[in-house]
Amino acid sequence: VSAASLPRAEAVVDLAAVRHNVRLLASRAAASGSETMVVVKADAYGHGAVPVARAALDAGATWLGVASLDEALALREAGITSRLLSWLDTPDVDFTAAVRSDIDVSVSSAGELTRVADAAGEIGRRARIHLKIDTGLSRNGCPAERWPGLVKAASAEENVEVVGLWSHLACADEPGHPSIDTQARRFAAAYDVAREAGLSPLRHLANSAATLTRPDLHFDLVRPGIAVYGLNPVPQQEEDLRPAMTFRSSVVLTKRVSAGESVSYGHTWTAARDTTLALVPVGYADGVPRTLSGRMSVWLGGVRRPVAGRVCMDQLVVDCGDDEPELGAEVVLFGTGEGGMPTATEWADTIGTIDYEIVTGMYRPRVRRRYV
Ligand code: PLP
Repeated sequence: VSAASLPRAEAVVDLAAVRHNVRLLASRAAASGSETMVVVKADAYGHGAVPVARAALDAGATWLGVASLDEALALREAGITSRLLSWLDTPDVDFTAAVRSDIDVSVSSAGELTRVADAAGEIGRRARIHLKIDTGLSRNGCPAERWPGLVKAASAEENVEVVGLWSHLACADEPGHPSIDTQARRFAAAYDVAREAGLSPLRHLANSAATLTRPDLHFDLVRPGIAVYGLNPVPQQEEDLRPAMTFRSSVVLTKRVSAGESVSYGHTWTAARDTTLALVPVGYADGVPRTLSGRMSVWLGGVRRPVAGRVCMDQLVVDCGDDEPELGAEVVLFGTGEGGMPTATEWADTIGTIDYEIVTGMYRPRVRRRYV
């Protein structure tokens, strides 16, 4: 509930852009005979899991992927019935909830297999599992030396059905990186072991970058995340992706200051000439990194204007020169990039992170979400 209708800190999510991006990705997948699992973990990278999931399924995705069982259950509670994979939980998680709700789960170890199988046995149903092989990312996933044992145990376990075999790439966003082919070879070897044990699981390996650059690694399913949100992980390969999130606010106060007046904490910025300042009520508590201080500009009145001085917790100040923006005028912090407006990727590049972190950081109570 908000007492105001002008945006203070608002993430506008363009679901038509999400649908467009999913159609692009799903058509690449379909060209290799594979289906598309859209990754909606972390509240769809800050865009809102339920609306994005619906848009993605509408546009041709057939699976959804999330990190935790809680995220998967929230999608089921919202009425989403598609295939759904959850891949990373704490050892105490109650897998009966996954089995009851038709949620596929990832299994990386014999212990995890036992926990899933016991939960399924408890309620008299079979759990659907995807065995994860660590092919070189060294995060979760079964190490190669334990793989034959895990495959054997899973194929002998009556309470589970091995639906998938999967892994995750470390360097897919650096096309040509030798680790990609190394991981692909290890993935193929893991599949051979599964086949020899009589299994014929679906294979999935490709994130967004591999979906866009390595059709030979599409296998049965691709798992794009970031590209769904319109951010290209391989910018050297131009793609018609549309950024889905625009982060906006409003001008709440303007004032004229004289040359020589300084702005914000630490007085790191001083007006070189008489100028008009516009106060914008967003700050680092709303997801504007304080490390952008002195290095950012906003889109106000159809042009870029520099932010003067430090980004504060709840506000920042824009140098408008001789222009006088109206109270309530829209301020775009980042968006599609159209016409030269700032983007989440530009923020990330400026402060030395990735755009994933910028948009995911918009998942916070102070930022109102609106769907268009
Ligand atoms: N698959 C797994 C297991 C992931 O953890 C992620 C996200 O990090 C993805 C797929 C999607 O990756 P991307 O957002 O780079 O497409």
